[in-house]
Amino acid sequence: MKPGVIILAVVCLVIAGLTTVFAGPAISNTVSNFFIVVVLVVGLGVHVGNSGIVSFGHPAFMAIAAYLTAILVLPVARKKALMPNLPDILGDISLNPVVAIMITLIFLALIGGLIGLAISRLNGASATIATLGLLIITHSLLVGGTTFTRGAQAVYGVPKVVTPLIAAGAAIAAIILADWFKYSRWGLVARAAREDAVAAAASGISVQRSRALVFTISIALTALGGGLFALHLGVFSPKEFYFNLTFSLLAMLIVGGGTSTTGAVAGVAIITLLSEGLRRVEPGFDIGGVTVPALFGLTTIGTSLALICTLYLRPEGLMGLKELDDHLTWVRPLRGYKRKNLSRAALSGPKHLRLLEVHGITKRYGGVTALQDVSLALNPNEILGLIGPNGSGKSTFLSCASGIQAFDEGTVQVNGIAMRQSDPTAFAHAGVGRTFQNIRLFSRLSVYENVAAALVAVPGAADAPSIAQILSRVNLAGMDDRIAETLSYGQQRRLEIARALATCPSFLLLDEPAAGMNSTETAELANIICSLRDVDGLGILLIDHDLPMILRLSNRVAVLNEGHLIAVGSPAEIRENPKVTAAYFGERSADQNLEAYTAT
Ligand code: ADP
Ligand code: MG
Repeated sequence: MKPGVIILAVVCLVIAGLTTVFAGPAISNTVSNFFIVVVLVVGLGVHVGNSGIVSFGHPAFMAIAAYLTAILVLPVARKKALMPNLPDILGDISLNPVVAIMITLIFLALIGGLIGLAISRLNGASATIATLGLLIITHSLLVGGTTFTRGAQAVYGVPKVVTPLIAAGAAIAAIILADWFKYSRWGLVARAAREDAVAAAASGISVQRSRALVFTISIALTALGGGLFALHLGVFSPKEFYFNLTFSLLAMLIVGGGTSTTGAVAGVAIITLLSEGLRRVEPGFDIGGVTVPALFGLTTIGTSLALICTLYLRPEGLMGLKELDDHLTWVRPLRGYKRKNLSRAALSGPKHLRLLEVHGITKRYGGVTALQDVSLALNPNEILGLIGPNGSGKSTFLSCASGIQAFDEGTVQVNGIAMRQSDPTAFAHAGVGRTFQNIRLFSRLSVYENVAAALVAVPGAADAPSIAQILSRVNLAGMDDRIAETLSYGQQRRLEIARALATCPSFLLLDEPAAGMNSTETAELANIICSLRDVDGLGILLIDHDLPMILRLSNRVAVLNEGHLIAVGSPAEIRENPKVTAAYFGERSADQNLEAYTAT
């Protein structure tokens, strides 16, 4: 277990222990409540932090958990009086609270999984709006579904069994689970998808599956918080689980830092202390003979101000992206990510064909035909240069050949297998790696994590290169802990290549990898690209505007002009091809033009 987690756990235990020994019922109550809120905010943080999608809907799941736990533990006589129409299977039982919480957790994890599968298909704001819908629907169901609830009236008489120590235990469990998940291979790929879903998919990550898993775990923790909430308060009604609660939980998470488990705990502490303080002065007080009048709503105003100040001064929250461990200089970041090994059958499977074939692709954007009936094959052990004027369809071709872009006609086959369109994850698994014209890294993850995310997503041979080997291959050795967005342009482009290499590709498609590089960096890059062909036997599709470089490195060169493939041949043939010179340079001779081009 990581030191930061141990420190948090010890602090929780000490607070709970001191409260148990010394405090009266009022403070015990507040402390228990605090720990339950920690469970809820950490649970919400698992979703918001790992998927990057804000949820307004978590209180809905908390409500279902609270009601289910209450129904399971209420004494039968009380239950018959409160909810006479309950089905017998629920009405005639009264379970031990621990069993009830277990059942609640499993039931809510199942619901969370199903809803997570649906929500994971949505991106960003749409997903957030969907969670808002869930909150409103659930609230209406709770008020209207009087068979299982008491409508808007409160359910009461639930045994109040939660002590500060029990609540602290739950908070510690939530912190351990959240921290473990965040740094597990599933958490890593989810965080990668949070940073850039398109790049994640092109790196072999199954974005939807990872989001659904994040949602499920987050809902399971929320269910734990909801169940404990019922067993702590003993009385509650649907209004407890509505916008006010959504606001408080999100405020705590945002103030603490949405992507950090430590931040979630810190946020709960700060907002709880602030609210408790303001609640005491809210009814008004005397100080030095001066009477300060009552200020109703002060607690909410204070929380809102804390939220606004955070968003203004420190948008990523108190802890930012960091955990406690990141501040402890003696703690080394996790380095345990391993690739899953391919089975023997898969190793000798279709991969040995090693051919990326694009056949008859046509792609239209509204009125623009970006590609018209383009066929091109990429072999192993070759660099295929792809050139053409701006807007000639090079990037579109690369995106069709890597499963990012759907097309209107044609097929793409990888190693003899026809690929489904718009399924970049499948392309990555079939051995097609790529980089992007506009760099798309997992910006706020470290160099190491950028490569690791792709490495854990795609299985490979047991002797495939490790993360350290891949990084040294692209001259990024020793940069493991740098955050990707802090790298220079040249380093970022090389990191993109490293990430693609982590998927053990047979083919590497590079979209203007030398763009924005100086001549030293370009030369360094050219060496890397050649060694990937000569040493590793990769088939490389290389798009670049640096024509001398393309002509020097490529075995074959293909030329696109206005979506048409106008020539494919050796660099010498391309240099002399009149159609190419006309399209690319105007009417002068190739050598004159090449000189002019190089001079600029
Ligand atoms: P290149 O990479 O050769 O510069 P692109 O493949 O980016 O060219 O673009 C080819 C053509 O398709 C251009 O006319 C461009 O405007 C159009 N195009 C590319 N992407 C899109 C898009 N997402 N939506 C609409 N048109 C696009
Ligand atoms: Mg382009």
